[in-house]
Amino acid sequence: MFENLKEHPADKILALMQTFRDDPRDDNVDLGVGVFRNAQGATPVMQAVKQAEQRLWQQETTKSYVGLTGDPAFADAMIALLLGDAVARARIAAAATPGGTGAVRQGLELIRMAQPDATVWVSDPTWPNHLSILKHLGVPTRPYRYFDNATGGVDFDGMCADLEAAHPGDVVLLHGCCHNPTGANPTMAQWAELIAQMQEQGLTPFVDIAYQGFGDGLEDDAAGLRMVASEMPETLIAASCSKNFGIYRERAGILLAVGDAGAARDLTQGNLAYLNRQNFSFPPDHGARLVTMILTDAELRAMWQEELEQMRRGMLDLRRQLAEELRRRSNSERFDFLAEHRGMFSRLGTTPENVEKLRRDHGIYLVGDSRMNIAGLNAETVPHLARAIVDAGI
Ligand code: PLP
Repeated sequence: MFENLKEHPADKILALMQTFRDDPRDDNVDLGVGVFRNAQGATPVMQAVKQAEQRLWQQETTKSYVGLTGDPAFADAMIALLLGDAVARARIAAAATPGGTGAVRQGLELIRMAQPDATVWVSDPTWPNHLSILKHLGVPTRPYRYFDNATGGVDFDGMCADLEAAHPGDVVLLHGCCHNPTGANPTMAQWAELIAQMQEQGLTPFVDIAYQGFGDGLEDDAAGLRMVASEMPETLIAASCSKNFGIYRERAGILLAVGDAGAARDLTQGNLAYLNRQNFSFPPDHGARLVTMILTDAELRAMWQEELEQMRRGMLDLRRQLAEELRRRSNSERFDFLAEHRGMFSRLGTTPENVEKLRRDHGIYLVGDSRMNIAGLNAETVPHLARAIVDAGI
């Protein structure tokens, strides 16, 4: 039967990683894959995680099953991190998932069960796996304009105009912060406008937040999400612990469904447990347990926040350096938007031909849509990149 299988398009970012590895030049710069790197190019385990692992090794007495939706303490800790006190706990159903991807997948499956006709509106561009999972599940999908190539900012008018075509019951997939792949994010005033429009049209927000703490800080990065969850009648939230805890391979994430308290919440919670049971039964526990320990222990939490803050500031410094260098070399302000973007990524807003030119002539690897991972840079490679961008005539 295996001969009946169809080939699937290779993941472009993973293919790019391989080309980078095969490239014999020794001053290549990999700005492709979405993993945080420090100035030495490493993705180290955070100290807070190491310490939590040590404690866990000493204290853990069983590896028996936990629960279909994970440890309730993980849900409580993540809800506090994501939502603060913006939403009453009694309104929230929660399920631990394998990473943020698992949360996106379970969230879309929940939508398909609850509202099979709903169209899911996605930003153009969005994280390619959103589109891939939506297609795999057969969920009707439509794009809304998001990025303005000319300014490097959010095309907010375009976004609102496109969403006007959405029908009541449709879902709007939004990035909570640090939009991937563009790095451009709505202002708080724009979040407020968006909420008003979604309320008026009867749309449901699904907020994917994978980089809390990478943009303007833990609280600020969640501000848009908190406004949405507190003002909309129903909100879905997919959160990832991969980046901000640096535990990519542990697969820790959570899906939250905010709605009415009481029987409605219990019904949703039961459906989340059902969905986990069908797909993988019990969610991975190790990463989630580390996160819970870090978030609920004052010493570990302070250590983690300090490390996260250092990562965030490092990325902001690189953004400023790059924008400054480009300003000097191009004698223009047209790249200043790079300093305004937030998170690990920025979309340069140039053609695939120019992206290819950067790779061929300068050994600089960007994703084909001109997304670059700012954390892949360091003080030495910033001038190299700036020179290459100007040389390529971008
Ligand atoms: N959502 C977005 C927008 C992402 O960029 C990512 C990771 O790249 C994820 C979700 C999922 O991350 P993970 O499944 O590794 O936790």
